[in-house]
Amino acid sequence: MAIIRNGSPRQSLSPDPRTPSEFEGSPTWHGRDAETEYVSETASYDHYDTNDGDEKKTGTYIWRTVGDSKVRSAHAERNGKTYSWDDPPEGGHPGEAPNCRCRAEDVKNSKECKELKNAIENAKLQIEDNRKDVKQARKNVLEGQREYVRLEEEFLTLVATLGLSDLAKRGGNTLSRLKKALGILGVVDRFHEIELAFYAMEDAKKDIVAYRKTLNNQQQILNDSIRQFLELTRNNDEMCRN
Ligand SMILES: [Zn+2]
Repeated sequence: MAIIRNGSPRQSLSPDPRTPSEFEGSPTWHGRDAETEYVSETASYDHYDTNDGDEKKTGTYIWRTVGDSKVRSAHAERNGKTYSWDDPPEGGHPGEAPNCRCRAEDVKNSKECKELKNAIENAKLQIEDNRKDVKQARKNVLEGQREYVRLEEEFLTLVATLGLSDLAKRGGNTLSRLKKALGILGVVDRFHEIELAFYAMEDAKKDIVAYRKTLNNQQQILNDSIRQFLELTRNNDEMCRN
C-alpha cells in the first residue's frame, strides 16, 4: 500500500492534487474552533477554489459569513466588507482559517444583487401604482352604475309625466312604441325629449360595460406586477442571500 501511494507509476499518471497534509488543514477538519459546525460542501469548495493555486484570484470580494451564532466575532465584523485577493486580512481570506465557514462573494454577483434589489423596489412602486389604477377603475364602475340609475330614473319620470309608464316597462322596441302612443295623444313633439333621455340611459349602460372591461384589465396588470415582484424576490433569495 505504502509503495503504491508514494511511488507507483499509476499515481504519477493521475495525481491527487491534495496531499494528506492539505486535507488536515482543510476547513472540513473541524472540532477545534468556535466555528465548529459541520462545514458545507460549498464552503469547502470555495476554500479549495481559493487555494488550489492554479489560478490566482484577482480583484476584490465581499466577505460573507453564514450568519449564525457560531461565527467568530472577528469574522462577523468582516461580514459585508470588501477585501482584496492580493491583500488578505489577518488570518486569511474567507474559509482559510481553521473551521471557517465564511465565503467570498463575487463583486460581480453583488452588483447583480444590487440591480435586483433596485428592480424589487421598482416592482413594489409599480404594484402601488397598479393598485391605485384598480381602485380608480372600480370607482368608475360604481359611478357608472350610479349614473345609469340616475338616467334611468330621469327617463322613467319623463315617461310617467306623459302617463306612458306601462309602455316603457314592456320589452321590445320601446322608442317606436312610445312614438306611436305620443302620436295618438297628439304630443309627438315630446318625442325628441324622450329619445334623448332614452339614449342617455343606453349610453350609460355601454359605459358600465367599458368601465368593467377596464377594471378587469387593470386587475390583470396588477396581478402581473405582483407575479413579477414575487419572481424577483425569489431570484434575490436564491442569488443574494447573505
Ligand atoms: Zn469565518
